[in-house]
This record gives sequence, structure tokens and C-alpha cells, in this order.
Amino acid sequence: MTGESEIIERYFRQGFADGRGVRTGIGDDGAVLRAPVGADEIVVSCDTLVDGVHFPKQEGGRHAADLGYRCLAVNLSDLAAMGAEPLWFTLALTLPSVDEDWLEAFSSGLRECAVEANIALVGGDTCRGPLACTIQVIGSVPPGQALLRSGAAVGDAIYVSGDLGAAAAWIQGLESAEHAVGLAGLEARFWRPAAQLALGKRLRTLASAAIDISDGLVRDLARLLRASRLGARLRLEDLPLCETLRKFADREQTLKMAAGAGDDYQLCFTIADDKQQELERLASELDIRLTRIGLTTTGENIDIFYHDRLVSLEHTGFNHFAG
Ligand code: ADP
Ligand code: MG
Repeated sequence: MTGESEIIERYFRQGFADGRGVRTGIGDDGAVLRAPVGADEIVVSCDTLVDGVHFPKQEGGRHAADLGYRCLAVNLSDLAAMGAEPLWFTLALTLPSVDEDWLEAFSSGLRECAVEANIALVGGDTCRGPLACTIQVIGSVPPGQALLRSGAAVGDAIYVSGDLGAAAAWIQGLESAEHAVGLAGLEARFWRPAAQLALGKRLRTLASAAIDISDGLVRDLARLLRASRLGARLRLEDLPLCETLRKFADREQTLKMAAGAGDDYQLCFTIADDKQQELERLASELDIRLTRIGLTTTGENIDIFYHDRLVSLEHTGFNHFAG
């Protein structure tokens, strides 16, 4: 089996969510789609994952299913950060060879993630070359309600969802045997990040700005702040560490690592002071951890304090950690 049509027919045609508003999906020269509510705005985002760059080099296909899951999940995380509801996605897949077992596993992981999020696969492209996967996701949001990076105001509280550091701890564990101890069980945190879609939707009318954490809390928060033309003050000790990192002895160093750790795909957002009670109710309703880690300030710096002492994130090895 080598033909593009056979690959599509066999692995990417069946078992995906039907989605909404798909008039014509895979099989024609283009998909024909109808926005579910006429007045909604459409949100589009695209991410490429390259073998050995965005995930550990694939040997033997052990993580093919995980990779399928992750390629879509990281894209869904962008929709979550916009407060958007997933609708459709396309898949551009570049493969070094046609390996049926690999394709079977990859498509099953992809399907699993797509069904969970009820997003329909409506098209794509398949070609030969070094392993890479580009996914474009399309979602919708009620008019004017998309969560932007640019909406934060001075004095807004800064929050982060979930906990930090698990995915990066696993990646670093791959590189150093001494760290690998106790990292079993973190694999899924890297390969199968849970896009915060339900949270994103509810934040539309609560948060002033939001971003998803792909490259590390501080780095991504800096992007939000730049868009909002603000600075921030963070309390390092308030960062929600993942369970594994909580066991590490050097707390300050561990917190610094978590501040720079990527790949967790949690949301970082800002919210006006008077909306925090409503946010607490939302956290218990959705049963997710939402942690206040600081507040926005005038200026353009991010000042990071550890128990009231100003600290620097340089020379902590966090660049290496963030990969
Ligand atoms: P064309 O040559 O007109 O670009 P293709 O033969 O590449 O068409 O694709 C045929 C159909 O299969 C199109 O609807 C395209 O969107 C879809 N398709 C191609 N590759 C994939 C893929 N990896 N996943 C999902 N759909 C795909
Ligand atoms: Mg084509």
C-alpha cells in the first residue's frame, strides 16, 4: 500500500468525530463548511511538529499513537487560549515511508483526541519526506468574546491553571539518568497534554487576557504582557508545582525550573480583582486547580520574588530545561 488515497481512506476517513456543519469533508478538492451560528467569529490556528525538534526523535514507532494525540492536543490548546469551541481541523502529514503499523497507531491517537474534543477532520495533505505533522484547527466564538493576549489591565491578578513542570521533567529525565528516577508516569503529561477547552470557554466573560503555556510560563506570560503593554510581579513560591517536582529538595531551584518549563499546555490568564470570587466558583465547578501567582503592573518588566526577595531566572539551567 503506497498510494496517498489508500492511506487517507484507511487511516483518516473513519472513526473521527462528525463535527458540526460539515457539508463536504475529506474527498473533494476542498472542504465545504458551515459556521454553526451565523454570527459567530471563526478562530484559526496552526502548529507544526517536527521529528527531533518538537518531540523526541521517533525510533521504532513506540510513541506513534502518542504523537497523533499530541499533534492535535497542542493545537486545541491554542483554541482553548482563545476561548474558542473546536469545529474542524486539517492534517498535513509528511512521512519518510509508508509504515502501516505506525500509521495505524498514529491515526488511533489522533482519533482519540479528536473524538474527545468533538472536532472533525475535514481535509489535509500527505507527502513523503522527513517526519513532520502540521495541523490547522478551526473553531468558533461568539462575536467579540475571543480571549486575546492584549486585554489585561494594570492590577489584574495573574492566574495559571493546573500544575507546572511535569512534561519538561520527563523530557529532561530522558537526557539524564539521575533525573529519570521517579519520572515514570510523567510520560503521558508530555505526550497527552489536556487542552483546557472547558476552562477557556468559561473564561471568555471572566478573564481580561489569556495565553496557553507552550514555551514556559515566564516566556509565554511575557508575550501576553507585551501585547497588553504591561509588566508583572510574580511570587515564585506560589507557582503550582507538579507532584514530582514537589518532592525535589531544592525548592527555589525547582520553582525556577517550573517557571521556565514548557510543554504543559496550561492556561495563563489575567482577571480583574472583582471577578476572582466568580473564578473560584468556576474552579470548583470544573474541578480544576486555578492558582493566583501574581499581578500586572505598569512598566515592562517581570519582577519575580521568592519570599519577598527579588530573584533572577538566569543561570538556573532553565534554558536547557525548556529545550
Ligand atoms: P489534491 O491532489 O487535490 O490536493 P489530495 O489527493 O491531496 O487532493 O487529497 C484528497 C482528499 O484527501 C482531499 O479532500 C484532502 O483534503 C484529503 N487529505 C489528503 N491528505 C489527508 C490527510 N493526511 N488527512 C486528512 N485528509 C487528507
Ligand atoms: Mg494533495
